[in-house]
Amino acid sequence: MRTRFAPSPTGMLHIGGVRTALYAYLLAKQTGGEFVLRVEDTDRSREVEGATESILRALNWVGIAPDEGVVLEDGKVGQRGNKGSYIQSERQALYQQHAQILLDSGHAYYAFDTKEELETMRETMRSNSNPSPKYDSSVRMNMRNSLSLPEDEVKKLLADNTPYVVRLKVDPNRDIEVHDEVRGKLTFQGHTIDDTVLLKADGFPTYHLAVVVDDHHMELDICIRGEEWLSSLPKHVLIYEAFGWEPSKFAHLPLMLNPDRSKLSKRQGDVAATDYIDKGYLPEAMINFMVQQGWNDGTEQDIFTMEELIKKFSLDRVQKGGAVFDRERLDWVQGQWMRKFSIEEFVDRIKPLVVADYPASAEDNDFATKAALIQDRITFLNEAPQMLSYYYGDVQAPMDIVCHKKQKVTAENIGAITADLIATLDVIDEADWNETSLSADLNAMAETKEYRRGQVFWPLRAILTGLPFSPGAYEVAVALGKEVTMKRLCDFNDQL
Ligand code: GLU
Repeated sequence: MRTRFAPSPTGMLHIGGVRTALYAYLLAKQTGGEFVLRVEDTDRSREVEGATESILRALNWVGIAPDEGVVLEDGKVGQRGNKGSYIQSERQALYQQHAQILLDSGHAYYAFDTKEELETMRETMRSNSNPSPKYDSSVRMNMRNSLSLPEDEVKKLLADNTPYVVRLKVDPNRDIEVHDEVRGKLTFQGHTIDDTVLLKADGFPTYHLAVVVDDHHMELDICIRGEEWLSSLPKHVLIYEAFGWEPSKFAHLPLMLNPDRSKLSKRQGDVAATDYIDKGYLPEAMINFMVQQGWNDGTEQDIFTMEELIKKFSLDRVQKGGAVFDRERLDWVQGQWMRKFSIEEFVDRIKPLVVADYPASAEDNDFATKAALIQDRITFLNEAPQMLSYYYGDVQAPMDIVCHKKQKVTAENIGAITADLIATLDVIDEADWNETSLSADLNAMAETKEYRRGQVFWPLRAILTGLPFSPGAYEVAVALGKEVTMKRLCDFNDQL
């Protein structure tokens, strides 16, 4: 199956676009087909410089780079494939030829109406209690177009280079039936559709003409896009028909919603794919989360690899109703992916980040052991340097972290506790510096000195790490070794 993603280069890749592209990618891979990227830049006024490149970078980052069309090659935007150009602004001649085909076959007509004439038409219709006036069969014979005007006048207007648009001639008396892969059978009534503009006065096609011409000539089997395009669907079906072409399949994906079920908006959180990249989400977690914005496989399975998705994804399990974008769930999925990595994979991913902050960690033969201690509590890779900071940097534990109300560690007793910790640990031999003997001796100390366990383990852990959260006291003490452990305790004691 040949599928496509057809963004307009008007800004960052929207998170909804990631889902559209992902579904198209999965279907292409599932069937051994191609995933094509086409740039829809017919509205030049909305174009943002660099947008195509940033969209491609984001797709590459999530792991769904296009096979054909506009692609990144050696880091630069290029094109691949023999059905191009894949950039609409480079296909003007083709759209103009196609508008001409429809003019010649009587499916389209020239309209010479000026802005003012169109406005007057709308005003008149509104005053005749038509709240949503449109240019259609009910008014077209009162307007200035090649259906209403005599032939020689039309010829003259064209010869004089009078500005015109080309409109599709829509039959109001027919029903347009179409099958949508998500929504099933849909019926639209001809009278609800305007005589859609196909070619604008500047010679550029509208989206409607370009999308049909391109999906046809690029031999795309399915058009997958957001629900906001559903109202354009009957127009596209009519354009296919006018050309005498078999329409592609269509799938309109459910809206993505904020948790309060309003339309997903920037005001309630990030909506650009790059925001999630910058925040440190894993591409695997993004894919896993995004695919579930409107799709499930019918089982309880939550975590899917790309390979599994390629096997399991199907449009008939895509829901019609809006999909709530639950950022808490995204974090949960992200955490699941962090735990899923083998330790080697996890080390590969965090080591460059840790080395950048703490060059000494590059030489650490026990790096993997330390990494393993944080793997089950990390959410973002970029937390790793801080989570491992106490191994490679200086630690000055702040009092407000060492003292802890619930653990009953206070400014009054911390001096005595620290002194006891030093005395107890100092007598343990380097050779016995392991979790078993540390645990035995510290428990014994707690008993003799009548400390609660928290009064021993919390301050030890906090003094060694300087952090409110970390692996447990013994694990850290063993990983740090006796010398560093004693030094941190003594330094803390001196500062009291
Ligand atoms: N260019 C349209 C957009 O930016 C794509 C519509 C389609 O996929 O047909 O959303």
